[in-house]
Amino acid sequence: MQEPFPATILYGGDYNPEQWPEDVWLEDMRLMKLANVNMASINIFSWASLEPAPEHYQFSQLDRIMDMLAENDIAANLATATASPPTWMSRLYPNMLPVTREGTRLSHGSRQHYCPNSVDFRREAAELVRRLAERYATHPALKLWHVNNEYGCHVSACYCDQCAAAFRKWLQARYDSLDSLNVAWGTDFWSQHYYAWEDVLPPRISPTHSNPGQVLDYQRFMSDSLLECYLTEARILREITPEIPITTNFMGAFKPVDYFAWAPHLDIISNDSYPANTVPAWETAITDDLMHSLKGGQPYLLMEQSPSQVNWMQQNPHKRPGRMRVLSYQNLAHGADGIMFFQWRQSQAGAEKFHSAVVTHEGNEHNRIFQQAAQLGAELKQLSADVVGSRTAAQVAILMDWQNWWAIEYPQRPSNRLHYWEQIKTYYAPLHGLNVAVDLLQPDSDLTNYRLVVAPLLYMLRPGVPKNLEKFVERGGILLTTYFSGIVDQNDRVALGGYPGELRKLLGIHVEEFDPWTENMTNQIVIEEGPLLGTYPCTLWGEVVHLEGARAIGVFANDYYAMGPALTVHQFGQGQAYYVATQGSNELLAGLMRLLCQQASVSPVLNVPNGIEVTQRVRADGRVVYFFLNHTDKPEVVALPAGKFTSLLNGKEVERQIEIDERDVAVLLAQ
Ligand SMILES: [Zn+2]
Repeated sequence: MQEPFPATILYGGDYNPEQWPEDVWLEDMRLMKLANVNMASINIFSWASLEPAPEHYQFSQLDRIMDMLAENDIAANLATATASPPTWMSRLYPNMLPVTREGTRLSHGSRQHYCPNSVDFRREAAELVRRLAERYATHPALKLWHVNNEYGCHVSACYCDQCAAAFRKWLQARYDSLDSLNVAWGTDFWSQHYYAWEDVLPPRISPTHSNPGQVLDYQRFMSDSLLECYLTEARILREITPEIPITTNFMGAFKPVDYFAWAPHLDIISNDSYPANTVPAWETAITDDLMHSLKGGQPYLLMEQSPSQVNWMQQNPHKRPGRMRVLSYQNLAHGADGIMFFQWRQSQAGAEKFHSAVVTHEGNEHNRIFQQAAQLGAELKQLSADVVGSRTAAQVAILMDWQNWWAIEYPQRPSNRLHYWEQIKTYYAPLHGLNVAVDLLQPDSDLTNYRLVVAPLLYMLRPGVPKNLEKFVERGGILLTTYFSGIVDQNDRVALGGYPGELRKLLGIHVEEFDPWTENMTNQIVIEEGPLLGTYPCTLWGEVVHLEGARAIGVFANDYYAMGPALTVHQFGQGQAYYVATQGSNELLAGLMRLLCQQASVSPVLNVPNGIEVTQRVRADGRVVYFFLNHTDKPEVVALPAGKFTSLLNGKEVERQIEIDERDVAVLLAQ
């Protein structure tokens, strides 16, 4: 296979020349050169033009686009065009259209109007993909396959009869018998027992709460169904063009699709990122860290970001000058080897005509948006040789589990204030503030190379996870987990005999009762000694905790469980396992993360002023590239480690310290 990222930071964006007359294409080539674009994502929504009638294909326009890109030394990130089927297809195959949980069949007229389990959709998509792959297999422009687009972004689940039949097959593969399914789902409750497979349905709308096991399995099944759509195309591409890497664009922490399960099937992870202007730096960084973590640190591609405003918020302010650049560098800083936009030229018509583009409706290079994109393009070209292929390195892992996410947010959970990704972010934010590198991993991942593992809300313990965590702590690791952990098994069945189930031995505690608080209920954690000495407000949740070998660091101040443990630590083998029985204040979590990093001998990349983000990427030759991002509105001076550095953006040699302007960045290579 070709190197996913040859020694070039990929730069460009979605390019839709089919929306424009061909004289505009020539102007696009001139402007792409000006902006140092080296890759264009094409053909993403071209199915209707490629196949205007059933089995009548026309590729002449795409031929000309591919040839033009090759002539201009611009790589094609060639999409398979299957994300929006032509309108004639839903007329010919009405069952191809997806059905909502309420039973409404959706229409064409926007995009993504297909049932993931539609045999007709998969067959038609496969045929198109085969023809594309055969036609362009040896085309010099083809460098990357872009399968479909943003799987599940509008239709993450379909409830039609085809899906019902496919769900039953999926369940038959998961459970060896209907009896096993009945046990897993707990169907003795509410007289839900199944005596025949044909009675098993998707969790369609019903009088009240659907069975939680059924709901959970349907989320697994739908993520797998979308994956099967991807694989249907990817298998054809691998067969015909085994040398060309394959990707599909993810959407950050997107709940309906288990990206950990998908990642092994992609050659390159790519991500679409559209943070609002109000999203703080740590909150964009966590998504970047998730992306590099999905394939064990392999560099990823930022497939889409907006040059300025988007079109789908209630109001869509510009990205202020400098923000696009800083966010682009933040992706590089966290492991990206490519920065791309949606889109190259702003559409004249259609639902996204007010979404910003590198070439605005003005149609020329004489404006802020184009010029900032051109500046970035020139900088990335300059950085390429020194950055491409280098990797981030973390000693801290936050555990994240999509299946846990689905289970914990079942609508009838103990508190509708529990939001899994929000909890993960709550613990990530202080680590980011400390400039500590973080990976996000599944709970059954190999934790050998980590010193500190944080596992918020580990409600579901899938097989092997308790042992994995015990092994990690036993050999000297520091683990922190929180309230409402260790509650259920992989089938969402409660672990009997006392919470936190299989984590009880590791944590050295027993939770007698958990207490989900209303918004006006609060408490305090009192810590009477040690580095966290103080009284901290806490919210959301309380628990009645008994010590079984652990030591209480902090206790609840109020309510009937006043003086009961709220923060505990348990020596287990060579390491320690911490437990937080409530939602501590940001101040407490910041202090706790600092303390745990110290105990685990995890150091910040560098000590820098507040508002400066610093990361490092390590090259294959062992040399370190430092990224400094000034997220503040004033210049900051940063002290450097001993030694000399090359400032890669201006070629100057620096040592001891560096000043970084407001909203500016610096990239230093250790000499
Ligand atoms: Zn369906």
